[in-house]
Amino acid sequence: MVTSFAIRGPRSLLRQIREAMAGDAPAQAKLNMVVRIIAGSMVAEVCSIYLRRAGGELELFATEGLSADAVHVTRLKSGEGLVGEIVRLGRPLNLSDAPNHPAFSYRPETGEDPYHSFLGVPLLRGGRAIGVLVVQNRTERSYGEEEVEDLQIIAMVLAEMVGAGELLGQEVLKDVEIAPHRPERLKGARFADGLAYGKVILHEQPVAPEKLLSDDPAAEEIRLRAAVEALQKQIDDMLEGHHGLVGAPYEVLETYRMFAHDRGWNHSLEEAVRNGLTAEAAVERVRSEHRARLGQARDPYLRERLHDLEDLNDRLLRHLSGDGHKARELPDDAILVARNLGPADLLEYDRTKLKGLLLEEGSPASHAAIVARALDIPCVGRLAGLRDKVNEGDPVIVDAESAEAFLRPRPDVVAALDNRLAVRAQRRAEFARLRDTPAFTKDGAKVTLLMNAGLAVDLDILGETGAEGIGLFRTEFQFMVAEDMPRLDAQRALYEKVLDVADGQPVTFRTLDLGGDKLLPYMELEREENPALGWRAIRMGLDRPALLRLQLRALIWAARGRPLRIMFPLVASVDEFRAARAFVDAELAWAQRRGRPAPSRLDVGAMIEAPALLWHLDALLPMTDFVSVGTNDLMQYLFAADRGNPRVADRYDPLSPPALRALQQIQVACAETGTPVSVCGEMAGRPLEAFALVALGFDRLSMPPAGIGPVKQMVLSVDREAAQRGVISLLKGASGSVRNEIETLARKLYVAV
Ligand code: PEP
Ligand code: MG
Repeated sequence: MVTSFAIRGPRSLLRQIREAMAGDAPAQAKLNMVVRIIAGSMVAEVCSIYLRRAGGELELFATEGLSADAVHVTRLKSGEGLVGEIVRLGRPLNLSDAPNHPAFSYRPETGEDPYHSFLGVPLLRGGRAIGVLVVQNRTERSYGEEEVEDLQIIAMVLAEMVGAGELLGQEVLKDVEIAPHRPERLKGARFADGLAYGKVILHEQPVAPEKLLSDDPAAEEIRLRAAVEALQKQIDDMLEGHHGLVGAPYEVLETYRMFAHDRGWNHSLEEAVRNGLTAEAAVERVRSEHRARLGQARDPYLRERLHDLEDLNDRLLRHLSGDGHKARELPDDAILVARNLGPADLLEYDRTKLKGLLLEEGSPASHAAIVARALDIPCVGRLAGLRDKVNEGDPVIVDAESAEAFLRPRPDVVAALDNRLAVRAQRRAEFARLRDTPAFTKDGAKVTLLMNAGLAVDLDILGETGAEGIGLFRTEFQFMVAEDMPRLDAQRALYEKVLDVADGQPVTFRTLDLGGDKLLPYMELEREENPALGWRAIRMGLDRPALLRLQLRALIWAARGRPLRIMFPLVASVDEFRAARAFVDAELAWAQRRGRPAPSRLDVGAMIEAPALLWHLDALLPMTDFVSVGTNDLMQYLFAADRGNPRVADRYDPLSPPALRALQQIQVACAETGTPVSVCGEMAGRPLEAFALVALGFDRLSMPPAGIGPVKQMVLSVDREAAQRGVISLLKGASGSVRNEIETLARKLYVAV
């Protein structure tokens, strides 16, 4: 039994290593010292470090016990020998009779003949093995579980020190694969248009090397326990439906619960902390191991489990840090990299410095993507394997035009990007020149272009865009970014500010559209099988009138003597609209009783998002002052395809006969009854789609701010009558998408799409 090590533990050993590293001896001498200290402490006759060269070969970098002549000479190809096997498997090998293992590869220059027992662990950074740490003994023995654990902890700290350049100089590391360093090009999906070049900021940050070791393991253990307990409770609550944190399906939560209560997982974390790691470093250590093991799994089920574990680790780190990213200092050209983001996450970063966003997962219709578009931050999503392929600070290009990410791009790629950025800047300048030009078609039809917004930060750009008002103000965003439920005063203050900034231009406030993927951490919601079809938006408002009435009160109060426009989301029946409108009347009467000034004019409208309304417009329209078509949801329900699910989200095209006919039907019914109608889904902000909408007769479009310039250019170049004739004739007899045909038509008519 290796008693001396078991008693002193890796904590004191790690301190010794640190001290050895502090001097200014040459790099090789330091590394030799490290292996000597580890061998001595573990009572091992051999201790060796292998690091991975750029081609994947593992080279012996330092040894205590093997022949010194073998250092930098012995190299094992990837997958070769026991060391290669450890990298391949991403986990330790503990053998009492190593030479008889089938993967053993004999290298005479090392002089390792007499050593039988062998314990090797991977040096893991993120999910990648950058080398291997080995101890060997003559006697045939099996190393104990604790020794394996201890060596893994040492390996983790060594890997971080090597990775951070603390152990070896840059010269020595030149050809060592401590981190991904080659240029790479990843194909994904466009979530928000634009181009950006900058430096990677990891949303889920690795633990800094100086924060790996704790001074007080007992206190650290208490901190870890508290965080694990909080996590377990959170997941139990979610399962029991007491918490609205996640709209995850039941099986996923069950898996979370299984992991969160898993003794092995907890034990590994506690062991790591007892041995001197900080709680954060312990999470990282266990996470790297899981990633290295499961990341290679081909089985989709296992990969899904890895995904669940990642999420659990992220949650645990959040419980440990308490705060999050608020205090983070960003470089001026930050490109945020994350697995996925909730709608509110993006808003925690300094928007003036955030130039782009890359996501490993996600969906273009998710609200995180909508927030990216609202903030005009280019975003590419669904980039497989992204997080393991970048390091904090890497240069990276977000190319949302081609839906790609270029990691560590070569200079020629950057130069080509510079040209494209210049072209974009020129186009932006053209749009800016058009800012005050009213949007009339060539044949004299006025098209009103409005902006979608949802937060105070959006208001800064209202003037720059040339929008004629706000066609959709998503009031739920204020709720999503708040720590707890915004009270009457906070709501009123925001609405007042919006009206002040709009300075007489119309603003359409949409009442709370919560539920679906928009959940509030502080609001308890029951778990639902199909949240998009569930208790959301106006359904919630009508069932919990206190919340809706409070919001209406805030709106009426904020307007005081000014015009006010209120719109209800996801109305699915005429009765719902009638009931919602009655609350407005009740609030108006309430304000009047208290002598508060009423709005100078009040318009109340419905969003058309539920297909059922299409066959009840004759009853609905006379009751409304206006309607607005929410094509994001309308398309989701029309095609029965979840807007947030990447597998089906892009399967159906809004530029196809069923969708365009539905839109046409709405437009015609509104024209016949004289009801003002707008389109405020994302499609209104894309020139080609907007061309089709204008052709169908829509003359009010509300969109993300970045869409206004390009759509205005389209409007100014279109002859509406010709477009109408063309688009309507294309619908006849078409069996599927008519996107290409509409594009050809637009080009034939010289329309800028
Ligand atoms: C829509 O559904 O088209 C819409 C504008 O609302 P949201 O995207 O907020 O659901
Ligand atoms: Mg909607």
